[in-house]
Formats: sequence, structure tokens, C-alpha cells
Amino acid sequence: DQVALIEECQALKIIKRKNGYLVKSTRGNYECDNVVIATGSPASLLSGKNNYDLVNDLGLKVTDLFPSLVQIKTKPAYPKLKGVRVKCQASLYNDNELVESQTGEVLFSEQGLSGICIMQLSRLLSKCHGNLEIGLDLLEEFNESEVNILLEERLKKYGNYYLEGIFNDKLAKVLVNVDNLKDIRFKIVGTYDYTKAQVMHGGVSLEEVDENLECIKYPGIYIAGEVLDVDGDCGGYNLHFAFASGYHIAKTILSKGK
Ligand SMILES: Cc1cc2nc3c(=O)[nH]c(=O)nc-3n(C[C@H](O)[C@H](O)[C@H](O)COP(=O)(O)OP(=O)(O)OC[C@H]3O[C@@H](n4cnc5c(N)ncnc54)[C@H](O)[C@@H]3O)c2cc1C
Repeated sequence: DQVALIEECQALKIIKRKNGYLVKSTRGNYECDNVVIATGSPASLLSGKNNYDLVNDLGLKVTDLFPSLVQIKTKPAYPKLKGVRVKCQASLYNDNELVESQTGEVLFSEQGLSGICIMQLSRLLSKCHGNLEIGLDLLEEFNESEVNILLEERLKKYGNYYLEGIFNDKLAKVLVNVDNLKDIRFKIVGTYDYTKAQVMHGGVSLEEVDENLECIKYPGIYIAGEVLDVDGDCGGYNLHFAFASGYHIAKTILSKGK
């Protein structure tokens, strides 16, 4: 079978016909038995910002959208530490109750915290509605009494420079004013917006599709990838869902024979 790839072409409208659909586009109209909508999301604006126009026009429900896998804005923030990375355990607290911990590298940014483990925690923010904080344990391989012994010894030996050599020099200078290196709290004041996010939480409601991702209201229209209300952790899960959903839809359409 031949596949035509039409580039630089924006689909503008999908019109239901007696048999199949008419897709109006910037490069002409196409009669189709099946249509796959895979228009992505506005995250990072890599694939535009009108990703939901086609589904909105069809009257499909789109759930609330939040930037996900995104940097978190905090108070305090340490703009002077921008670009400094530190290995630690980062924990999300909702009204002081632990929601989830992630271990890895945290990256200080202009207005708060970034890095993979912070981005993972950002996925949970839309579900938490209390006073939100991030706690960093910068010495997670030591328990509290080990930390006290270690730091007391170093303080005697090195005075004000006792954290240098353990942490990045810029970070060590900030940390001398911090009481508990195993639980440094940062109040969450927001996230960066969708233009800085890797994915969007939310999208076409899963109530609109069946197990083959075919629209219940529009047989023959399928929805794949991030435009759906599906998002995953960092680690390739989002790309995987985009590929896997497209593959499954292609197999479903082929099995129908038209
Ligand atoms: C900076 C960044 C880093 C990321 N890193 C990772 C990662 O490491 N691992 C991971 O799993 N995921 C990652 N993601 C997320 C991943 O890229 C997306 O989840 C995935 O690309 C979604 O695939 P998709 O095909 O659904 O949508 P997209 O890849 O966004 O593709 C949608 C396409 O549809 C086109 N389009 C939109 N509207 C129309 C229209 N009306 N007509 C015609 N074409 C249209 C767009 O131009 C675009 O080409 C990252 C995302 C960003 C922004």
C-alpha cells in the first residue's frame, strides 16, 4: 500500500459525511474513511498552540490542562545558584504530609527548582490543594546522628568553610545559613507555564474514546498521543505512549479493511 506524506499542511476542520469524513486543510480537502487526530499539546510550543482546535470543533470534551514535567517556582529561590546541580532526595509535602519522594539530581533555577526529580513531582501538583512544599535531603545517605557527627567534626576543622568539599562551592556558601541539611523546605508558589513544560496534564477525555482509541461519538475518528488526557513520568513514557497509541490505531484501521 502507498502512503502519501503531505508536509506543511494544517488540518483545519473535520466534517462528518454520510460515509466517512471530509478533512479541510491548508492544502486542500481530503475524503477519508478514517481520521487519526494526533495533534500533540502546546507544551514548550514545539507543536504549536492550537492543538485542541480540531477536537473542540467536534465538541469532544477536553479536561482541564496543567503544565506537567515542568520546573517549580519556590520561595526562597536562589537565582545566584542557577545551573548548580546537587544529588539529593526531593520530597513533595501537602499540608506537611509526604506525597512522594524522588531521588536524583536537583537543578537550581532562576525562580526555583528543576531537574528530573522535581519535574516528576510537578506531575502531582494538580492533585494537591493544601500548603505545598518541597523538602530537600542533601545528605540522604547519612542518618541524622551521622550527619551531626560529620558536620561537627568538619566545623571544628574548617570553621565557616566546613561545607566546601562536600557541596559545590556556591551551594556551600548558601548552605552555611541553613539549619537542617536533611530537610530544607521550599514553599511552592507555582510552576513555569506550558511554554516551559515537557507535557500537558489533561487533554481529550478518555470517556470520549473506546479501548481502540476510536471516538465513541464519531466512528472512524481515532485519537492518539499527547492530545489525549494521558501523561507519564520522565523516562520515555510519553513518547512511548505516542508511538504505541499510533501503532495500535494503525493496526485497528488495517484490520477493518477500509
Ligand atoms: C522539551 C521537551 C522534552 C521532552 N522530553 C521527553 C522525553 O525525554 N521522553 C518522553 O517520553 N517525552 C518527552 N517529551 C514529550 C514528548 O515529546 C511528547 O509527549 C510526544 O512528542 C507527543 O507526541 P505526539 O505525536 O502526541 O505529539 P507531537 O510530537 O507534539 O506532534 C504533534 C504534531 O501535530 C502537528 N499538528 C498540530 N496541530 C495540527 C493541525 N491542525 N494540522 C496538522 N498538524 C498539526 C504539530 O505541528 C506536531 O508536528 C518532551 C517534550 C518536550 C517539549
